[in-house]
Amino acid sequence: MPERIVIIGGGFGGLACAQELGGTDYGVTVIDRRNHNLFQPLLYQVATAALSPADIAEPIRKTLGRYRNINMIMAGVIGIDVDRQQVLVDGGDRVDYDRLVIATGSEYNYFGKDGWRANAPGMKTIHEARQIRQRLLSSFEKAERVHDEQEKRNLLTYVVIGGGPTGVEMAGAISELGRFMINRDFRNIQPDQLKVILIEAGPKILAAFPEKLIDYARHYLEKIGVEVRTGERVLDVTSDGVTVGTEFIRTGCVVWGAGVKASPAHRWLGLDAVPGGRIPVDDHLRVVGHHNVFAIGDTADFKGTDAKPLPGLAQVAKQQGIYLGRLLNNRCADLTPFVFKNRGNTAVIGRNAAIFDFGKWTLKGRAAWFLWAFVHVYLLINFEKRILVSVQWIWRYLTRQRGARLIEERSIGESDGAMPSVVICQVTGPGGDR
Ligand SMILES: Cc1cc2nc3c(=O)[nH]c(=O)nc-3n(C[C@H](O)[C@H](O)[C@H](O)COP(=O)(O)OP(=O)(O)OC[C@H]3O[C@@H](n4cnc5c(N)ncnc54)[C@H](O)[C@@H]3O)c2cc1C
Repeated sequence: MPERIVIIGGGFGGLACAQELGGTDYGVTVIDRRNHNLFQPLLYQVATAALSPADIAEPIRKTLGRYRNINMIMAGVIGIDVDRQQVLVDGGDRVDYDRLVIATGSEYNYFGKDGWRANAPGMKTIHEARQIRQRLLSSFEKAERVHDEQEKRNLLTYVVIGGGPTGVEMAGAISELGRFMINRDFRNIQPDQLKVILIEAGPKILAAFPEKLIDYARHYLEKIGVEVRTGERVLDVTSDGVTVGTEFIRTGCVVWGAGVKASPAHRWLGLDAVPGGRIPVDDHLRVVGHHNVFAIGDTADFKGTDAKPLPGLAQVAKQQGIYLGRLLNNRCADLTPFVFKNRGNTAVIGRNAAIFDFGKWTLKGRAAWFLWAFVHVYLLINFEKRILVSVQWIWRYLTRQRGARLIEERSIGESDGAMPSVVICQVTGPGGDR
């Protein structure tokens, strides 16, 4: 019987690892609770109606189908029986392994306030991105109909919590979407009634970037109408708004981007996780204390050359996945320890504005935006997606139109955040909701 390698998670890391093992003599099983690989860096574009969900998601089976030695199981993992070398999945099944790879990523951290999640969705899944899109677009429609000036302003106030790259991208995108849409397509609301507030508890936004890029980003955000508030802590989030200090801000939509924690996989191994819930691994990505279990990506705690944990980035997960696939495949029996090659840290702030930090040098503005766009298209999982997204971006760049401005019809009794039973498709540019 071929040696059995089980990979939990078909995200950036897990999929890269599986692809390295495709066509080998191992029996590889990929387990994921969803059927698709999701390109999370572009989720904010789904939330702001620039792209459709199918543009950034690819069925895992489709990607791995050509490798006859790889099987996929769509199931949620609930535990690991280390003694019996089995993965426990929902429904009671057990999957045997000889070697195990944990690539379960991370989830949003509400810092113990999980009740806020319903009112302030994060952006980890397509469901959440669609929820945000639904709330955003609905608030514009409601504001168009109400007569009370204050209520209009409340509906057109958007709060983004967390000044990291996701929060910045979201705040910039909402502001640009809102102003363009209001100007062109609405009759009873004005662009100056729109307010986007970005709230960061720390002293600065984009804390991982050099100071000059932070200044640039902040100025650009303010130029496009985003109110940036640093050093302010959110105390409560309700369905009507957000409490910051003694102030209550009424909003049409709240978005959470205030931090992530690793998946709970460390508990399956009975390990004490390091801060952030990550699993400690050695320099070959082997889980400390487990000879045949490995962890990669956001859920692994791998120390970089500066002795700090590597950041939760797609490029880290992907590089680790490729490295581990080769290691498991014994293609490099004497493989040297994993070393992360930094290809640059980036954030997009708005149309024609992005920042890139390559360590030794930096880039900002239009050139950075084009580089950002090029890199993200290149990283999309297949050629078809690259073409689709490129065409839509070019179209949007030229026309400023957003192709996926869909408000989904709800069944009676569902709240704003609930997913609909019927979908109305009204598409204003290339690329509909597939
Ligand atoms: C909004 C957003 C924007 C981002 N932008 C960037 C960016 O611009 N650049 C960048 O480099 N990085 C970015 N990132 C970070 C990047 O997406 C992550 O670092 C990367 O996805 C980590 O890869 P991974 O393989 O560790 O986990 P993931 O890609 O998250 O994959 C984890 C997989 O495990 C599965 N899984 C989890 N738990 C279970 C379970 N119990 N049972 C079964 N399956 C399970 C999940 O369904 C998922 O498919 C962004 C992240 C977000 C959320």
